[in-house]
Order: sequence, then C-alpha cells, then structure tokens
Amino acid sequence: MTYVSEALRRFVTERAFGRCEYCQSPKMIVVTMVLDHIIPVAAGGATIPENLCLTCVGCNLFKSDFEVAVDPLSQQGVPLYNPRDQVWDEHFAWSPDGTLIEGVTAIGRATIERLQMNRTEVVRARQMWVKAGWHPPQRV
Ligand SMILES: [Zn+2]
Repeated sequence: MTYVSEALRRFVTERAFGRCEYCQSPKMIVVTMVLDHIIPVAAGGATIPENLCLTCVGCNLFKSDFEVAVDPLSQQGVPLYNPRDQVWDEHFAWSPDGTLIEGVTAIGRATIERLQMNRTEVVRARQMWVKAGWHPPQRV
C-alpha cells in the first residue's frame, strides 16, 4: 500500500467531483472510493497528482496493474484510458437509457472490458440512479 497524504487524497477526490474517473459512479455509502495509480507503482508510477485518479473499488480491482488491454472489436492491444491525459466523453458514451457505458474508441472499448465497467452490480445501481434523476452525470 502506497502512502498518500490526506491533502493529496482530498485534492484528487475534489478534482474528480467525487466520481469514479472510469465508470463515473458517485461516491456513496455503497460505492467506496480509492486512489488509483494510472501508471502502477509496480511499473514505476509516482504518487503525484498527475498519476492519480479517483476510482471505485470495482474499477480499481479489475484495473490492477494493467496498462494495456485488448479492444474487443479490432483484437488489438491498446493503452487503457488515462483520465489525466484524455477526455471521458471522447472515449465513452452512455447508452440511451443511461445504464451502460459504450466504447466510442478502441481505448474506450478495451477499458470497459478490462475494468468491467458494465458489471451487473453497477448497472443495477445506475438503474436506480436514473430513476432518482441522478444519472448519467451532467457535465459542468
Ligand atoms: Zn468505477
């Protein structure tokens, strides 16, 4: 476990508006958030704002130390989505009912598969969030 100061943790959380920077799940009692090293510590990634993002525990577990994944469409290996260098809306889109994340690019599709961003429990949660009017998140 890498030490992250409370100030750095707060900065990364506020920068992400409290949402998972991969699957966009909001921080809630049922959605625990952790900090992800975009370039894993095992691969030399530093504990600095430019290499950290906020993630839910699910996305973090499936991302693990992976940096690349296979695009299911082209079968090519591509880098995972990088929330610091890339824009979510350029790689992902919400399905019309707001419950599924669709990959717009090879990076988007590969990241969805690797992080299992449409896993059953998060899709069920999104269905409730849509009914409550909380989802999909609105951009500011
Ligand atoms: Zn997530």
